[in-house]
Amino acid sequence: MLATNHPNQDEINIFAKSIEKKTKLLARRNYKGIIKQAIHISPAYRDFVNKLLSNSALSIAPYSGGSCHVVDHGELNNYSKRRKVRIYVNFHKPDTFAHELGHATDFLFGDLCSFSSHVIVRDGKVLEQIFTEEFNEKEPLLYEEVMGAYARNIDSNIYKGAYDIFNKYLPLYNNLGDTKDRKERKAIHKELYESGFVEIYYQLIKKKCFDIVEQKYCPIMDALSSKHDITNLYLKGHSLEYYSLNKRLLVQEFFAHAFADKVTANHTRFDSLIKLMPKSFNAFERLFVLIYDHIMNNKRFTDMPVLVTAYPDSDIDEDEEKEEICDE
Ligand SMILES: [Zn+2]
Repeated sequence: MLATNHPNQDEINIFAKSIEKKTKLLARRNYKGIIKQAIHISPAYRDFVNKLLSNSALSIAPYSGGSCHVVDHGELNNYSKRRKVRIYVNFHKPDTFAHELGHATDFLFGDLCSFSSHVIVRDGKVLEQIFTEEFNEKEPLLYEEVMGAYARNIDSNIYKGAYDIFNKYLPLYNNLGDTKDRKERKAIHKELYESGFVEIYYQLIKKKCFDIVEQKYCPIMDALSSKHDITNLYLKGHSLEYYSLNKRLLVQEFFAHAFADKVTANHTRFDSLIKLMPKSFNAFERLFVLIYDHIMNNKRFTDMPVLVTAYPDSDIDEDEEKEEICDE
């Protein structure tokens, strides 16, 4: 086994061994990444993560990005048998593994009884209801907050007024691809240079302005990408198309992001969530504690408090395998 001088060497070894067992020979090529992932897991949750990894229904495979594939959907309100889930993980991106493990945990008994949409956490409601209500109510405010932070970030890292120029000339830049006429293209290039847009664009990428904002608002930002196209701004999220596939994806991504932050060294990301979406954060915490308690104490999940009538779903086609591809 790989030797490091890390104080939690034993836990890290358990983690690496589990991954090795699940990915077989392919893990050898990814050892450095696996150790990085193990160290990234918060010491408080290494036992928990290792217990989740010991679940034989979970399989893991290396991949260039990250995705979660539900092999067995399970049955509504049946929490007696763990269902097969396979996660594909880029071992060299620290947050990918924890995020996909979050999805796999949500679907421990299949996505037809995902914890995020079926387990009651407060006032007779499931996380999906609490999150959806709060998100729909606050969405314009959340967008304003995140975009405000993005603009301030650009202005303070590049120069005051840079965001306004960037925003003003972005549509022109985006149209460049459709402009075939050489003269016209030349004129657009000139305008983009002279306005300062090109320099701002370059600095924006070089200084990773979008990264700072993403770190701060990760789960909220991703949810916002279900209503706004933020890809032109270099902000990461899923897309309008992705979220239109199934309305449950919104809470599922929220759960996976929050789960990843919870079990890794990303606790600071919760500051924005606590401030901006306190009800959702609280509901997530309750659900997490419930899952954590059952896993750590080897309890059966058959006592989970579930909705008697399922929360109106559902775009899920039971006959079709559902595949979900995530950016991270
Ligand atoms: Zn995801």
